[in-house]
Amino acid sequence: MSAIRPVVLLSLLFTSLAMTTPADAQAPDAALAHARALLRSTPLIDGHNDLPWEIRRAEGHPLDVAAYDLRAPSPKHTDLARLQRGQVAGQFWSIYIDGEMKDSGYARVQLEQFDIARRMIARYPDRLALALTADDIEQSVKRGRLASLLGMEGGHAIENSLGVLRSYYALGARYMTLTHNVTLDWADAALDSARHHGLTEFGRAVVREMNRLGMFVDLSHVSPAVMSQALDVSEAPVIFSHSAARALVDHPRNVPDSILARLPKNGGVVMVTFVPQFVSTEFKVWEDSADAERKGLRTTVADSAERRRQMDAWEAAHPAPDATLAQVADHIDHVRQVAGVDHVGIGSDFDGIDNVPVGLEDVSKFPDLFAELIRRGWSDADLKKLAGQNLLRAMRQAERTAARLQREREPSTRTIEELDGRRPAT
Ligand SMILES: [Zn+2]
Repeated sequence: MSAIRPVVLLSLLFTSLAMTTPADAQAPDAALAHARALLRSTPLIDGHNDLPWEIRRAEGHPLDVAAYDLRAPSPKHTDLARLQRGQVAGQFWSIYIDGEMKDSGYARVQLEQFDIARRMIARYPDRLALALTADDIEQSVKRGRLASLLGMEGGHAIENSLGVLRSYYALGARYMTLTHNVTLDWADAALDSARHHGLTEFGRAVVREMNRLGMFVDLSHVSPAVMSQALDVSEAPVIFSHSAARALVDHPRNVPDSILARLPKNGGVVMVTFVPQFVSTEFKVWEDSADAERKGLRTTVADSAERRRQMDAWEAAHPAPDATLAQVADHIDHVRQVAGVDHVGIGSDFDGIDNVPVGLEDVSKFPDLFAELIRRGWSDADLKKLAGQNLLRAMRQAERTAARLQREREPSTRTIEELDGRRPAT
């Protein structure tokens, strides 16, 4: 609908007399102007952007923060000019690391991603500022800098060590997604086998230690059992940094209503993502058949260039359906309906996705999403909560909980061997 309607309205504008122009012909622009004014008065904080990984693997100049010049147009979804047009005031930069590296070395790659993200932030002091607290976010916004937070994506990075977890906090991590797509020794991933029926005892200790530190427990990517058990254990608000609603699209990465309904008691925030296969059932079906085709080619075609050629031919014959901005808005509406307006936010996953919804092509498009919600009748007060106030409230609550827990208990020195009965690593 959103792809067709502006064209219809434009043709009406150009072919009709002024007095026969529908009264709502100006509505899209009015709503967008309204959205832009609103986002000037309240910070928009996005939960997930994978730019540091794009910098790591940039063709020709991997890991080179200087060569990946954010003052110039970037090859993917994010650069300084588009962040400004998108009115992004706060960003959790994902310091994702791959969960399928064969040898150990997660910590090394994780530290390199901290280094890339921190060098990136330091390189543009007139535009970006590292933010470690909710107060920092508000200070940065006042100074006209994009508040830059760090979020780790995947508990494999701690290599089963609470000491390593604490060191990451010290380097600035303010959330950790408990798993990525691979089940860990202590937590089941949504897209992998359930080995533990949720969290192990050590997994629970990780959640408790994150609460003590003041690092958000991020439940995107984990199995529903982990979501539920983490909510049982967590003394602080949790977040979902980039997930959508499972009632609308039955994808294991999405959040079931039974979990959404528990958010009010916990105080957390579900930051709705733009990932096409999570927001559109048609796109998910297409993605599933593309995956099946890719897997089939892997077993039947040995040559990788030939596999690529055949996959390109398949995609040309089976074009991906469009996911849309309106579908993203549907997920936001659903989370508001089930979890409540105090528990919904935005977590785009820009730079972490190859396909984007029509209407949400890059970081400059956030105001268009707010314009759509304005047209759906959202009040300014509710839009401000969605934009960033919910996240700020949850972060302050997590900080208060951490301060209390630090008075009550020492840093945990428990090990996975003690808690889960595994043999010590040799
Ligand atoms: Zn992710």
